[in-house]
Amino acid sequence: MKRIFDRRDFLKLSGAAATLAATGCATPGGAKARVVVIGGGFGGATAAKYIRMWGPSIEVVLVETNADFVSCPISNLVYGGSKTMKDITYGYAGLKRYGVQVVRDTAYEVNTSSKTVRLVKGGDLKYDRLVMSPGIDFMFEEISGYADAMIAKRVLHAWKAGPETVALQKQLAEMRDGGVYILSMPLAPYRCPPGPYERVSQVANYFKKHKPRSKVILCDANPDVTSKGPLFKKAWAELYPGMIEYRGNSKAIGIDAKTNTVKLEVEDVKGDVLNVVPPHRAGNIAVKAGLITANNRWCGVDWRTMESLAVKGVHVLGDATLSAPLMPKSGSLANQHAKVCAAAIVALINGREPASDPRIVNTCYSYVSDDEVIHVASVHELDAAKKTFVPIKGAGGVSSARNTLEGKYAWAWAQNIWSDVLG
Ligand SMILES: Cc1cc2nc3c(=O)[nH]c(=O)nc-3n(C[C@H](O)[C@H](O)[C@H](O)COP(=O)(O)OP(=O)(O)OC[C@H]3O[C@@H](n4cnc5c(N)ncnc54)[C@H](O)[C@@H]3O)c2cc1C
Repeated sequence: MKRIFDRRDFLKLSGAAATLAATGCATPGGAKARVVVIGGGFGGATAAKYIRMWGPSIEVVLVETNADFVSCPISNLVYGGSKTMKDITYGYAGLKRYGVQVVRDTAYEVNTSSKTVRLVKGGDLKYDRLVMSPGIDFMFEEISGYADAMIAKRVLHAWKAGPETVALQKQLAEMRDGGVYILSMPLAPYRCPPGPYERVSQVANYFKKHKPRSKVILCDANPDVTSKGPLFKKAWAELYPGMIEYRGNSKAIGIDAKTNTVKLEVEDVKGDVLNVVPPHRAGNIAVKAGLITANNRWCGVDWRTMESLAVKGVHVLGDATLSAPLMPKSGSLANQHAKVCAAAIVALINGREPASDPRIVNTCYSYVSDDEVIHVASVHELDAAKKTFVPIKGAGGVSSARNTLEGKYAWAWAQNIWSDVLG
């Protein structure tokens, strides 16, 4: 028989007895308000923590598939060799200290009429407001042969940090010196605009030390490097001369696992290690819940509250959202979306108006070697008339040149954001 988890069950499960003492934030029925958060990545974990911090009497239940948080930021350094999986993997114990009830399970479906989340392992979770930050899923069907190549273990995306990061590192370690590594990227928008260029820098960094006759080919569906282009190209020319070949307008349409070939619109490229990243869309659970509003891919939101434009009472954060103008899909911004959302939810539950003038910031550091870094930063404010965030002119910018001081800032940024997200 299906089980409905109530508040008492979760308090028992989490041992968060302290939340029993909390008062206020009652729903019309008299019970305390409960927010369920799906996805414990950059957006979801931050939202869960900040709702508890700013509305301590609100009950927050976070549903996350994975046992640990594995960070995509810094994950490219695992290929370069200067960081390990241990450096980018963290548990959820910190959130429990804020009274967040962490449930290790997968949200199977959402009934937005009865305001219930069904879990894969069984049981339904009732919510007053739902926050979704499921990240992305891949449109594998856009690249013929991808599924077969995956089954044959001939292709990886490694665009979600975790087991695929370990598998790609292993394939690079096992590759012969003189081999070819191919990274294929889809048209923007994809998560982390500078991520592909940092990745090829780090793979070349590894090849330079261990397999100097090897080659990196970046097949980019976009016409040119989409972020920090001149800085990346200068770094490639000076640090890895002749090793990285950049091909713009090179969209992947197929994979032949038997011949290790990536089929591009214009030509075929053969490699030893195939790292093909398919186009993305919002995570499956957001699609299933009917939150998609744009191009069959992304979730439109009211940027003042991050509430879905499709379903009331459901808030969407991070990569799953239809990006505002010049707003990249980044961990930095998912963390900021979460704070806008947490403040709005606490206000709404307490019968107050959400703030009308949030400002948020994005910073994205990229390592081009073990210790040299370049950054891009932007600040965004809510434009009430346009009903979206717009970049503030003159705020933000890019590095003037790669440098090691920013290497220190980048590592500090990573440690700070992990601590902010996870407690
Ligand atoms: C190689 C690489 C490098 C990057 N570097 C940077 C960087 O330097 N700086 C930066 O700011 N950003 C960077 N990013 C981007 C950043 O990782 C993403 O933008 C960020 O993770 C988005 O946060 P999110 O909360 O939307 O999704 P995620 O962080 O992906 O979190 C989604 C979570 O939801 C869970 N989930 C999904 N569906 C369900 C379900 N049905 N039930 C339960 N749980 C579910 C997943 O397990 C996951 O934990 C990088 C990305 C990549 C790939």
